[in-house]
Amino acid sequence: MADSREGVDARTPSNATFVPTTGAMRRRPSFPFGRVAAVRNLPVAIVSIHAVAGAPNQPHRRTAGSRLQGWLLADDRVKQVKEANDIVEVVGEYLSLRKAGPTYKGLCPFHDDHHPSFDVDPRRQRYRCWSCGKYGDVISFVQEHDHVGFVEALQLLARRANIELDPSGAATDFQGRARLLDVVRWAAQQFHECLLDDPSPQAEEARRYLGERGLTGETVRKYGLGYAPRSGTWLSQKAETGGVALELLEKAGLIAPREQGPGTYDRFRDRIQFPIRNPQGQTIGFGGRILPSSPLAARAPKYYNSSDTPLFIKSENLYGIDQARHAAASAGYLAVVEGYTDVLMAHQMGVVPVVATMGTALNARHVRQLRRFAPRVVLVFDADAGGDTGVDRALAIFVSQDVELAVATLPAGLDPCDLLLAQGPDAFRAVLDGAVDALEFKLTHVLAGEGRGGVTPPVQGVEGRRRAVESVLSVIAQAPALPGHAGAVKMQLLINRIAHRLALKEETVWARLDELRKQRGGATDPRSRQKPVADDAERKAPAAPEERQLLEVLLAEPDLVLVAAESLRPEEIAHPGLRLLLEGLYDLLAAGEPTDLDQLRARLDNPRLAERAMKLQEVGRGNSDRAGCLRMLLNLFEERRRRPALQELQNRLQAPSDHEAALELLRQLTTRNVVGAG
Ligand SMILES: [Zn+2]
Repeated sequence: MADSREGVDARTPSNATFVPTTGAMRRRPSFPFGRVAAVRNLPVAIVSIHAVAGAPNQPHRRTAGSRLQGWLLADDRVKQVKEANDIVEVVGEYLSLRKAGPTYKGLCPFHDDHHPSFDVDPRRQRYRCWSCGKYGDVISFVQEHDHVGFVEALQLLARRANIELDPSGAATDFQGRARLLDVVRWAAQQFHECLLDDPSPQAEEARRYLGERGLTGETVRKYGLGYAPRSGTWLSQKAETGGVALELLEKAGLIAPREQGPGTYDRFRDRIQFPIRNPQGQTIGFGGRILPSSPLAARAPKYYNSSDTPLFIKSENLYGIDQARHAAASAGYLAVVEGYTDVLMAHQMGVVPVVATMGTALNARHVRQLRRFAPRVVLVFDADAGGDTGVDRALAIFVSQDVELAVATLPAGLDPCDLLLAQGPDAFRAVLDGAVDALEFKLTHVLAGEGRGGVTPPVQGVEGRRRAVESVLSVIAQAPALPGHAGAVKMQLLINRIAHRLALKEETVWARLDELRKQRGGATDPRSRQKPVADDAERKAPAAPEERQLLEVLLAEPDLVLVAAESLRPEEIAHPGLRLLLEGLYDLLAAGEPTDLDQLRARLDNPRLAERAMKLQEVGRGNSDRAGCLRMLLNLFEERRRRPALQELQNRLQAPSDHEAALELLRQLTTRNVVGAG
């Protein structure tokens, strides 16, 4: 996947401090989807595919969506895209997978997984979660994970494999995620080029700032750092000359409409730009640091992030994760620091499993992301910043998440970048090695407070111990408990340690915890978490076996759709989801298109239904006599059709007026050959 990192050149020696550079620009990459005019011709097609999904009760609709179908179907593009994107490779870009026999296992990204329940099967090219039941292929994985439709997922995968989906260029211009990724990448490139080459004194100042921070040219290029000029219209002017749609720039959070008067303004002004990338290495947003010398510095915040967009969520994304995740796999941990330059300096000095939050405190969503790549998270506190709230929040996460959360403390007065520059990577590694788990950290903190600096031996006196245990348990009581057996074991271990450290009986600690939980309203009962699952099950109302089997057979063998269509109408299927699938297959048949699942998914664009369909198809593939099975099923439907009449006959038989009438009714029943079948 082409991104700004590909533009790296070797002009600056890799280990030299980044020095101001001017001079000739490198090749100027053109905006990859520069045919902006084509977008305006396309909304009909975009709208229609969603309209199809949203209008299940209109059979045989033929809309402009078929235009879109046309290019999807051309040369079996879907198949081509799937073959070029191995499911293990693609899923492996989102989470860590470990080989386990013939398949690969990892933590499921679709539920709060505590043991690797997510199974990726390279032979079948399918994934399945044994815990939450998610199932599908590489396209549905991207759909589910990135919350995009079928076509967008297909586009993302096509571009990953360098497949041109539509050589005519008409249908690839989408207002979706792929377009937004393009525009953010384009902007990153503009900022980056500006930092490297702009002759203005401000850009010069930005280069000097980074050089003074000790960042090398290699780091600046590898991480695509940039500079956003002061003017306020710089980026929108670039967009206009480059043919980039302003509405996309606005959607990406880079420009905003002026509050007074017409036009837009750049949201990042006079700032060093740190592109924020997702774990796959795609730039999704920016963090900007104002130049210290800027006249804007007095009234603008020092750091500023992209607003939340469909790509970027400030409270979830982690700076440096695209690089750190690979190192985390072997290191077994990921460290969390506060600043962008802390991350960059750590990486530059070879301590790579380091990321930063976007100016927000570490939260459970961060931890769930981090745990996909490493079992241990080390939270790095400044010596003076590890106040009570920070410690308590870390403990709450430790209690409620299946994670080894450890806390490391920096020497007083130093941030990680300072420490690395002053004392080198080994000093920083020593800080990380000295991390203690969050409970230990809290206990030490509490005991130090109670013991007036005496961390060991344990606090003297009943009152001191009482206050210490209250302080720890009140945090634990408030945190949602980790569900299941793992949660129970973890809680047992925590309580055991608290009791031991505070020289209390375990039962006493448990009793006090129960009291505190009751006071908090008992919101910690793990059983309350199971409710959504039950709701989900209710929503998936059971289908009649013959209806389910029909779709199993048809989805596994597309040629049989023609046979079914000759004798069975979609209205005869009672289950709404299955009926929608059958209607879709018939629509494909009527349109002369292949009646297979990939085409059907493009048409429905409903991930939940597609998942169901794939499961049905999998079962159907295990059926060796699908044609015979279909014949039997069609007979069954034939019987169902006659059932109302049959019921009527049986009712009359129960009250016959005379013997002859009863005999006649029996004869009718027999000739219909349905006695006993109702
Ligand atoms: Zn799952």
